[in-house]
Amino acid sequence: MVHLSVVVPCFNEAEVIDTFHTALVAALEPTRETFEICYVDDGSSDRTLQRLRHLAADDPRVRFTSFSRNFGKEPAMLAGLRTAGGDAVVLMDADLQHPPELVPRMLEMHRHGYDQVVAQRDRAGEGAVRSSLSRAYYRLVRRCMDVQLVDGEGDFRLLSRRAVDCVLSLPESNRFSKGIFSWIGFDSVSFTYQNVERAAGESKWGGRRLLNYGIDGLLSFNTRPLRLAIHTGLCLFLSALAYALWIIGSDLFVGIDTPGYTTLLTVIVALGGIQLATLGVVGEYVGRIYHEAKRRPHYVVRETETSVSRVPARSGLGTPGGRARTTS
Ligand code: UDP
Ligand code: MG
Repeated sequence: MVHLSVVVPCFNEAEVIDTFHTALVAALEPTRETFEICYVDDGSSDRTLQRLRHLAADDPRVRFTSFSRNFGKEPAMLAGLRTAGGDAVVLMDADLQHPPELVPRMLEMHRHGYDQVVAQRDRAGEGAVRSSLSRAYYRLVRRCMDVQLVDGEGDFRLLSRRAVDCVLSLPESNRFSKGIFSWIGFDSVSFTYQNVERAAGESKWGGRRLLNYGIDGLLSFNTRPLRLAIHTGLCLFLSALAYALWIIGSDLFVGIDTPGYTTLLTVIVALGGIQLATLGVVGEYVGRIYHEAKRRPHYVVRETETSVSRVPARSGLGTPGGRARTTS
């Protein structure tokens, strides 16, 4: 017997949350395992929180944490992992893009001794541009990063208790879960499932947010971009030196007087660009140090399920009502 926790970050998911909950419970009950579902409301502006209160009042297995504002999916997952008390924890999205019926299969694989069971989605039904861009990104990441990221392996996964404890022991405030999951190691196994469209509502990942997420990924796990900047600088310096020698040589020995303003302009512009990019890279790291140095909490909690009074007949729990926790 394992006690299972399912962690579900929700941001404006009022339209699907009930359907999701029903589907999840229907998938989990036949496994005869004991389970809890830890929802995290990431500062939704729709009725998500009200729905969660209802779910928690009706079912003692439902727990929730609600943030004071939108902090992002990473802090939401962190809050969920902190709440989860299970021997195994499954992370999944609320939009039914992570099919609940796969959870029993993950549990089965976990029983064979794996600490991480990853459901890897294929890219069926995704736009050609988006999928080729992601492929290119993962190729780049494989070359540039110290940890391995696999295309299609997202946050939908099962973690054993010791893997969760390990994830929670990493204190950084710039959290990039895909990298963290790969960094902690342990025996991991993956299986592929068919990508599904989200059931209702809309994706919170526009082009810009995805781009920023990609940059985060590249920068949060290594200092190789800095090294790359140094290499580029060195290469440029050497080629400029060779070019200068060539010009001087042709002037002295052949007597060609080179009209040079076009080349000069090109060189200045190219160098300027590279310097700016390099400065940007350095700035990113400094920014990260600044961010980490503040040591702020990852999120602020407005309310948890303990402030909802449950229906006593079903849960047998008398819980204090009203007061919210305001810090994490
Ligand atoms: N999410 C969140 N906070 C955010 C954005 C998203 O908790 O700021 C949740 C969202 O409710 C969903 C999951 O993260 O459960 C994945 O989000 P979404 O479906 O928008 O991403 P996509 O599937 O398009 O990558
Ligand atoms: Mg989604």
